[in-house]
Amino acid sequence: MATPRAAAAAVAARPSTPRRRARARAGDGRHLDATADAVRAAGVAARRAAPRTGRAEDGEEDARGRRAVYVETYGCQMNVNDSEVMMAVLEGAGYDETKEVNDADVILINTCAIRDKAEAKIWQRLAYFRSLGNGKKRSEKPVVGVLGCMAERIKEKLLEADRLADIVAGPDAYRDLPNLIDAVVGNPGGKAMNVQLSVEETYADIIPVREAGSHSAFVTIMRGCDNACAFCIVPYTRGRERSRDLASIMYEIRLLSEQGVKEVTLLGQNVNSYAGEPASATTTDFLSSLRGESKDPIAELANASTERLASASGSAFVGYADGFASRYDPERKRAGTIQFAELLDKVASVDPEMRIRFTSPHPKDFPDDVLRVIRDRPNVSKCLHMPAQSGSSATLERMARGYTRESYFALIDRVKAMIPGCAITTDIISGFCGETEDDHEDTVSLMSAIGYEQAFMFAYSEREGTAGQRHQIDDVPEDVKQRRLQEVIDAFRARAAEKQQMEIGSTHCVLVEGPSKKNSDEWTGKTDTSKWVVFEKNDAIGKYAGDEDAPTSGSYGVKPGDYVAVRVTGCSTGTLFGQVLGKTSLVEFQNLHGAQWTTPKSSNGASAR
Ligand code: SF4
Repeated sequence: MATPRAAAAAVAARPSTPRRRARARAGDGRHLDATADAVRAAGVAARRAAPRTGRAEDGEEDARGRRAVYVETYGCQMNVNDSEVMMAVLEGAGYDETKEVNDADVILINTCAIRDKAEAKIWQRLAYFRSLGNGKKRSEKPVVGVLGCMAERIKEKLLEADRLADIVAGPDAYRDLPNLIDAVVGNPGGKAMNVQLSVEETYADIIPVREAGSHSAFVTIMRGCDNACAFCIVPYTRGRERSRDLASIMYEIRLLSEQGVKEVTLLGQNVNSYAGEPASATTTDFLSSLRGESKDPIAELANASTERLASASGSAFVGYADGFASRYDPERKRAGTIQFAELLDKVASVDPEMRIRFTSPHPKDFPDDVLRVIRDRPNVSKCLHMPAQSGSSATLERMARGYTRESYFALIDRVKAMIPGCAITTDIISGFCGETEDDHEDTVSLMSAIGYEQAFMFAYSEREGTAGQRHQIDDVPEDVKQRRLQEVIDAFRARAAEKQQMEIGSTHCVLVEGPSKKNSDEWTGKTDTSKWVVFEKNDAIGKYAGDEDAPTSGSYGVKPGDYVAVRVTGCSTGTLFGQVLGKTSLVEFQNLHGAQWTTPKSSNGASAR
């Protein structure tokens, strides 16, 4: 077996891919080696975990050369991060990513099953991928694989009835991908499937392979969901809730900080239901494998992670937000584990210049200790996603959401009182089973009363196998669903437009994302409250001094990943327009203003019922 340094050299010598270039730019030589070792170790760990049936051994990989894999990802941010995990597994097994589908030996499509529309698009793409093999010898046709939620939901149809895929792998089977591919390569007509859902898999020891040059990253901290909301397919496609251990998360966050990443989004199907152990045996093994080079800062981080965090004993479960409940016993599930408030606090402490976001939460998991961490840590984003789903208590009960209209309003009031200026976003489903006009009006009034910054609004689309489909009747006609959806959208837009206007005159600490797609002379960026801002590019700007009239000092260029102070001068429905006032940092801006934004013209605390 190759030594770690030899393995790093081998990785560096392979044909360059966009993702691998990302690692090469990540730091100086020591960091590069350590990072490459980490990825190699992840690949080794992945291979160790996978049964070695029917796949190439190391020597065979060299003989056949590396294969090219093309990956297309649909759906949520979790799927994006899953594809990065999957690429880490595949790179360790002799694959390189290609962005050109015609060059691919293997085509993988990571899917979403949340709505009918998402699935329809994926069927079209599969038919196209299949057509790429037309006229080729069987041995030259690309292998087509379907991964993720849709794979879990309709496995047989994909493999047998429509024969559009050769491989089907569920979200807990990515370690097995090299085996599955090898089982069908050179085996015309062969099919391979692994859709086993796990109660343990968190991919904690796999460092995802991320896009080049990105200053933001996703980090999955838990997987699956135990809530069983009546409309939702996720518990059936993603399985039971399980959390990554704290040490592996801290290690990855530290690595990202070393690489200069400025924004991390923690991910999970019910992210704030996090309940992880301090350090699992797998993570301890994984981090231990990085030791031995005591001067290496990454190895030092590994030492610090395991030894310090293993001594953590878990934090007491303080309960849900008032008026919220779940179907399961949280005390039993969470005893002796680290809770989300503690995890968030520890993650935010790694790098004060790294902005921390998280999605997707359930409102029940916002007790006061979580809100306090969000309030007290300047680098935790002050934009909270609070999926209401409906404004009617009767509908919420049919949806099995575990709260009422009143308790939801009380939570929002609590957020606004504890974290003034906090932006709130939501999800809404119009036309769920049994929804009356009165129920619908309750949702419209909720949208008007709360004034969300952003909302993801959909007409109910029944998903096979959910409690809604099995036990309730999808009895709201499609045209009524669409009319109600439009009324909900109108109510949202009316308040969103008001809130945009209220931003004019305020100054935000903005993370520069890149050039505007509409005008290359402008930058786009995001505020702490997750609002898009467009502002003119300047060749050089001074250091922000806290006021638009205060003299700035120095002369700095601006590039993606920088923080700048931007004063808002105008707005459209979804975008703010502004003028850059100077270069800044999260800590500097916070020291000047006590928050990541200056107070808008008037308060947004309306809570009419
Ligand atoms: S909490 Fe979210 S992921 Fe879980 S069942 Fe409900 S809607 Fe689905």
